[in-house]
Amino acid sequence: METEASPVPRRELKRPVLVAPSPGALRALFRVLSARPVRGSAVRLADRAVGEFLRRTDNLPGVARDEWLTLRSLLYSFHRGLKTGTISPRAWQGFLEFAAHALGPHPAREAFCKTYGQSPPGFLTISPTRACNLNCTGCYAGTEESPGTLSFSTFDRIVQEMEDLWGARFAVISGGEPFLYRSEGRDLLDVAERHPKLYFLVYTNGTVIDRSVAKRLAEVGNVTPAISVEGKAPTTERRRGEGVFAEVVEAFGHLRAEGVPFGISMTATRDNCDELLSDEVVRFYFEEQGALYGWIFQYMPIGRGYDLALMVTPEQRLRLQRRMWDVIRTKKVFLMDFWNSGTACHGCVAAGRSGGYFYINWNGDVTPCVFIPYAGANIHRLYAAGGTINDLMKIPFFADIRQWQLGYGYKTKPEATRNLIRPCPHRDHFDFLLPLIKRHGPQPINREAQMALEDPAYIQGLLAYGAACAEVLDPVWVREYLDREADRVAGVPAEAVAQQR
Ligand code: SF4
Repeated sequence: METEASPVPRRELKRPVLVAPSPGALRALFRVLSARPVRGSAVRLADRAVGEFLRRTDNLPGVARDEWLTLRSLLYSFHRGLKTGTISPRAWQGFLEFAAHALGPHPAREAFCKTYGQSPPGFLTISPTRACNLNCTGCYAGTEESPGTLSFSTFDRIVQEMEDLWGARFAVISGGEPFLYRSEGRDLLDVAERHPKLYFLVYTNGTVIDRSVAKRLAEVGNVTPAISVEGKAPTTERRRGEGVFAEVVEAFGHLRAEGVPFGISMTATRDNCDELLSDEVVRFYFEEQGALYGWIFQYMPIGRGYDLALMVTPEQRLRLQRRMWDVIRTKKVFLMDFWNSGTACHGCVAAGRSGGYFYINWNGDVTPCVFIPYAGANIHRLYAAGGTINDLMKIPFFADIRQWQLGYGYKTKPEATRNLIRPCPHRDHFDFLLPLIKRHGPQPINREAQMALEDPAYIQGLLAYGAACAEVLDPVWVREYLDREADRVAGVPAEAVAQQR
C-alpha cells in the first residue's frame, strides 16, 4: 500500500454562505413544514427558494438548472409519497432524523477540513457480501471467486468511523444481495438499527423482500431499498431470470403495505436503453407501483463476462440524457444517472471527493468507485496497521483522481469547467485513468479486472468509446451549458428556466 499522497490544492467558488441550524431546530422546522395542511405550500415555497439560491451561485446557468430540477424532483417525490401513504409517518420520522443531522453542524467535519484541506466524503458504498441468489448478465459482483463477506464487526466499525470521523449520515449498501448478508449472528438491518442517525440506501434484487422483511424495514425506519429492474417484465427477466419480475412486484406490494419508501435501479444497456424511460415504464413504476425515485446505471464493462458491445452508444446516451431531464421536469420524478447527472453533482464523486465516496467490497478492497475495480487499499490491512478510514485520504491513487476532478470540473471556474455530461475517469477518460493505474499499480479486485488491463480490445474499445462520446456530447456541452445564453437552446426545458427566473 502506498502512503504518500500528491498535494490537492483547494479552489473555492464564491457561494452564498449558510449557517447550519442545530439538528433539534431543523427537526422541528421539518416537522411543521411536512404537516399535511401546509405541506403543498411549503414544497412550492422551497422549490422557489432552491431555484433562487442556485441562481445566485457562480454556476453555469445550465448546471444550476439541472441542480434545481434534481432537488425539486426530490421535494415533489417526497410530497407524493406522503400524500399517497407510500411513506408512512414512521418512515418519514426516520428520514427527518437523518436530514436534521445531515444538514446540522458536526465537529468532525471541521476537524477533517483542517487536516485534509477539503470537506470529508459524504458517504461510503459498502458491499458487505458477494453472495447472491441470482446470476444476472454482466453483474459487477459476478466473478467466479468464492463468495466473500465482511465480518459484522468490520462492517459496523466502518459505518461507525464514517459517522464519527466524517460526520457522514448516509451509507449506500450494494452487493451481492445485501438482504442475504449474515455474519456473527447479525444481518444488514442490525447494522441499520445500530446507527439511527444514518440513512441507508440499499441496492437489492428485491426477491428476498417478503412480508416479514418489509415489516422489519418499517420498524428500523432508516432504510430504503432500491430494487433492480431492467424496464418492462420481459426485459427484466431476460437479464435477471425467469419469475423475477413477479417477485419484484410482490416486494413492491409488501413495502407499500408497510409504508417503506422504495425506489428502482435500472441498468441501461444497448438493448434496453430506449425502453427504460418510456412512458409505459415510467407510468408503471412511479405512478402505479409508487416508486419514490429511480437510479440509472449505464452498463459498465466490468465484472462477469465484460462486454463492450453492451454499453449504450453515445447517441443512445444523449437520448437517455434528454429523456431523463424531460421526465424529471415534467413528472417531477427524482431520477439520477451516474453519468448523465454529472451536472447535478459537479462531475465525478469518486475517490473520497468532498461530499463524494469510496467503495468497499466484501473482501475489504477499497476502490475509488463501484465502477473502477482497482483497489488502492484494503480495509483489513489498513485496520491491522492501526489505521482508520481517514488514512484512505492519503493513498496516492485516490488523491490523484481527486486532483484530476479539481482540474476537470469540481470547484473549477465556471467557464473552465470541462464537460460534466461525460465526467467519468473510467468510462469517458480512460486515457487519463489507464496511465494512472499503471503508475500506482492498484490491485485489480477480481480476475476480470486484471484481464481487462491486459486485453488490447478492451483498452482500445474504451479509448474509442471515450472519443466517440466526446464527439457527440462536447457540442451539446458547449451549446447548452457553456454558453451563458444557453437557456434559449432547444432541448433545455424552457418552462423550467422561466420558472427559475
Ligand atoms: S468514476 Fe465514473 S462512475 Fe464512478 S463516480 Fe466517477 S464519474 Fe461516476
